[in-house]
Amino acid sequence: MGALTIDAAVIERPGEPFRFEQLSMDPPGPDQVRVRIRACGVCHTDMVMRDGNLPVPFPVILGHEGAGVVEDVGRDVAGLSKGDHVLLSFHSCGACAACRDHEPGYCDEFVPRNFLGLRQPGEGSIRRGKVVVGSNIFGQSAFATHALAHMDNVVRIDADLPLDLLAPLGCGVQTGAGTVLETLDVQPGQSIAIMGAGAVGLSAVMAAKIADAGRICVIDRHAHRLALARELGADEVAENLSALVEPFDHIVDTTGVPALLQQSVAMLAPRGTLALVGAYPPQTVAIDPSAIMSMGRRIVGVVEGGIDPRRFIPRLIAYYREGRLPLEKLVKRYPFAQIEEAFAASGQGTVIKPVVVMP
Ligand SMILES: [Zn+2]
Ligand SMILES: [Zn+2]
Repeated sequence: MGALTIDAAVIERPGEPFRFEQLSMDPPGPDQVRVRIRACGVCHTDMVMRDGNLPVPFPVILGHEGAGVVEDVGRDVAGLSKGDHVLLSFHSCGACAACRDHEPGYCDEFVPRNFLGLRQPGEGSIRRGKVVVGSNIFGQSAFATHALAHMDNVVRIDADLPLDLLAPLGCGVQTGAGTVLETLDVQPGQSIAIMGAGAVGLSAVMAAKIADAGRICVIDRHAHRLALARELGADEVAENLSALVEPFDHIVDTTGVPALLQQSVAMLAPRGTLALVGAYPPQTVAIDPSAIMSMGRRIVGVVEGGIDPRRFIPRLIAYYREGRLPLEKLVKRYPFAQIEEAFAASGQGTVIKPVVVMP
C-alpha cells in the first residue's frame, strides 16, 4: 500500500501561526488505526505546545481531541474496523504499573508518548517529502483530515452520536469530570469548590451535579463563564475565593495560580482534598504542613482526570444521552480553515470549547 495525501494544519516553529499543507501519510503500522478526522476540540494544552512550552517536535501537527471514522487498521488491531465512529484520547504504554491499574494518565511513558510524539519501530508517520513531521502528539495529531492513532487511545462510539460535540470528551471533559467522579469520588451532599470556569472547570461542575454534590461553588474572573456555571448547576459563584463560605470537602484547581493554592488549603474541611488539575509553570508555593497534617487534609495531582478513557468515555456518553452532560452549552464549531480564530477565541476566554470541523 502506498502513502496517502492528507491536509494538515502545521506549526513550523514555536509561536508561529498554523499553515495548511498537503502531507504524505504512511499506511498504519501493526497497532495503528487510520482515522478520517471529522472534528477536533481546541484544548489549552494545544496553546502551550504551539508556543514551545512543552517539548513537542517542530514542525508539528497539534490537536488531541480528535473524533472521526476508522478508515484502516494495522494487523494487530483488535475490536476496531473500517467505518467505526471513534473518539481519540491520550496515548499510553499499556504495560507499566499505572497502565495495568487503569490509570494511564500516570503512565511511565506519558511524556514521550504524548508530547515528544515518539513512534515505536514499524509505526507509520506523516512526511513532508523525506522529512518526518511531528505527527504523533497525544498519539493522534488531529488538526488534519486524517490521523494515525493507536489501539489504546481509540474509543468506539455509536454512529448516531454527534462527533463534533463529543470530540472534547477525549481530554478537556474527561479531565474535569474524571477528577470529580473518580479521583475525588465526590459523594452525595458533599461540598466542592471549583477554581476556574473553563472547559475543565465547567466539566467538573456538570460532574459534581451528576454526583449530587450538596454545594457546588465556582470562581472565575469572567462574568459570562460564571453565568454558564450557574446554568450547569453551580449553587454559588464568585470572582474571588474569599467571597465563598468555607469549608469545602473538595477543591479543584484548574487555574494554576499559586496564590489561589495557598489560600485554598485553609478552606478545606477536615479530611478535605485539594486536586491540582491546572497547567503549572515551575514555581514554589508555601504551605503550612501542620494545616495539612492536623486535619487529615490531602493534596492530589490529577492528569486527565485519573481515568482510563476506554472505561470512562462510555460512562460519559451515557450521561450525555441522559441530558446530564449538555456539551452544546460549551462548544462552538469553526470550519477547519478558521483554526486561528478558534485558538484566538479560546485564548481570550470568549469561547469555552472551540471545536474545528474538518471538510
Ligand atoms: Zn504505561
Ligand atoms: Zn487537552
